[in-house]
Amino acid sequence: MRATDSARKEKKARHYIFTTGGVISGLGKGTVTASIGTLLHAQGFKVTIIKIDPYINVDAGTMRPTEHGEVFVTHDGGETDQDLGIYERFLGRPLSKLNNITTGQVYQKVIEKERNLEFDGKCVEVIPHIPEEVERRIKEVTEKNDTDFTLVEIGGTVGDYQNVLFLEAARRMYLKGDNTVFVHVVYLPVPEHLGEMKTKPAQHSVRMLNEIGIQPNFIITRTSKPIDDVRREKISVFCNVRPDQVISNPDVDCIYEIPIVFEEQTLVKKIISRFGMDYKKGNMEEWRNAIEKIKNIDKKIDIGIVGKYFDIGDFALEDSYISVIEAVRHAAWSIGIEPVIHWIDSKEFEKNEKSLESLKGYDGVIVPGGFGSSGVEGKISAIRFCRENNIPYLGLCYGMQLAVVEFARHVCGMEGAHTTEIDKNTPYPVIDILPEQVEILKKKQYGATMRLGAWPAILKENTLVHSLYGKNRVEERHRHRYEVNPEYIERLEKHGLVFSGFSPDRKLMEFLEIPDHRFFVATQAHPEFTSRFMKPNPLFLGFIKASSSKANK
Ligand code: GLN
Repeated sequence: MRATDSARKEKKARHYIFTTGGVISGLGKGTVTASIGTLLHAQGFKVTIIKIDPYINVDAGTMRPTEHGEVFVTHDGGETDQDLGIYERFLGRPLSKLNNITTGQVYQKVIEKERNLEFDGKCVEVIPHIPEEVERRIKEVTEKNDTDFTLVEIGGTVGDYQNVLFLEAARRMYLKGDNTVFVHVVYLPVPEHLGEMKTKPAQHSVRMLNEIGIQPNFIITRTSKPIDDVRREKISVFCNVRPDQVISNPDVDCIYEIPIVFEEQTLVKKIISRFGMDYKKGNMEEWRNAIEKIKNIDKKIDIGIVGKYFDIGDFALEDSYISVIEAVRHAAWSIGIEPVIHWIDSKEFEKNEKSLESLKGYDGVIVPGGFGSSGVEGKISAIRFCRENNIPYLGLCYGMQLAVVEFARHVCGMEGAHTTEIDKNTPYPVIDILPEQVEILKKKQYGATMRLGAWPAILKENTLVHSLYGKNRVEERHRHRYEVNPEYIERLEKHGLVFSGFSPDRKLMEFLEIPDHRFFVATQAHPEFTSRFMKPNPLFLGFIKASSSKANK
């Protein structure tokens, strides 16, 4: 056999599954895609999932969470779309920043290549050069991960002007002979005055997809109740798919149930047979059991999240803190508890100090990550109240920085102590900017320049954090510019604050705790990004256990 033949033989076949959406946004395409990925993974296939976002921002890092939901941080330091968080929580392993492709990245690369004369004097055009770059990126991720299946979720809704070039890339891949399957997710509304589930908007969206040159192989119907045979038949006839290619995806209480819903309709078996591959019975037993347990939970605890993105209504709120919410759920479910999450607007505490008493009604309180001055004094007051009243407290990033400010002010007597993010002239800058960040900010280079991604921390023995993780060294993900100022560490520790984890060179404080408290732990990192369904993050688990024991008292 010649060398090239054996090389060709070793290269395994790649398969691409594209997910698109129609009718409305917010259909849960991310969950659909992650669920298909989970089922393929359970069959023993190598799977990766890519999210394509049509915005011009190079990454999600420059967007307010209220604009586009949480910024999810990958291990390798990408500031990505929150859908990557869904994929990681389902697949149970880290994805790269390369798994989030945006219009901004694609154009940036094409223009850079043009400037470097890499197009050999050709006229560089939207077609074909933009879809070609999209395809190159999809295949780069595929090869790097050596996948059997690469799932690609195309953001936005069919009919949007913005995602046409991504759909065009997918169409071209199909046309050129790549192994492709198209999954289209649609919404079937039930107008109140009719009381009947309507399929027409879904039909139109498939027609729009057809105009672009794509015929979906599977149609996933997002509905309030499972679809009946009449609607299934209608979709089949008008959308040009067989009835068994119409998949029912009704509302469920727990999103992790969706792989089971799909498994019952043998969706993945059908996808695999379309690719002409052999189907094996995958192992979803553990997953199924976990779902059953969750459905039978009867114990509840109340967790308060003190945030500030409240001016935008309840819907966007969940999106802004989605990884924190999921991390709380994973931890609570693992010990048979349903967490009830309450949103606490820290600005309320600034207006009316008495309202702090309401914190006694929660079994545990979290101050999550954040930026800027709005609501900061209210957060500090809330942290103080938790510390003084033995209420379990978990501080995440900003929640750790403000815990240090609070402790400095009220325990160490450093009146006016602050983070220099808020008060440049504070007499006690207990939280200060990293020296390398000063230059970056002077040059206004805001994009992708924070301390990002996974960083190691050494944990101090005989501390709560050490016992929760059960090891000496951990890696959690970061996204911040400010740090505990090393000049104040000794003074803070002398008054009883324990820094239970720090960078290997001992310069950066990563974890803190207060002994003789039910649970008072904070971290400079974002442990919520490494929590997975059935594998909670140890810090969240410790927090939930402490909250649950408070609830029992
Ligand atoms: N604003 C703080 C910083 O930049 C905290 C950031 C965060 O909570 N992610 O350091």
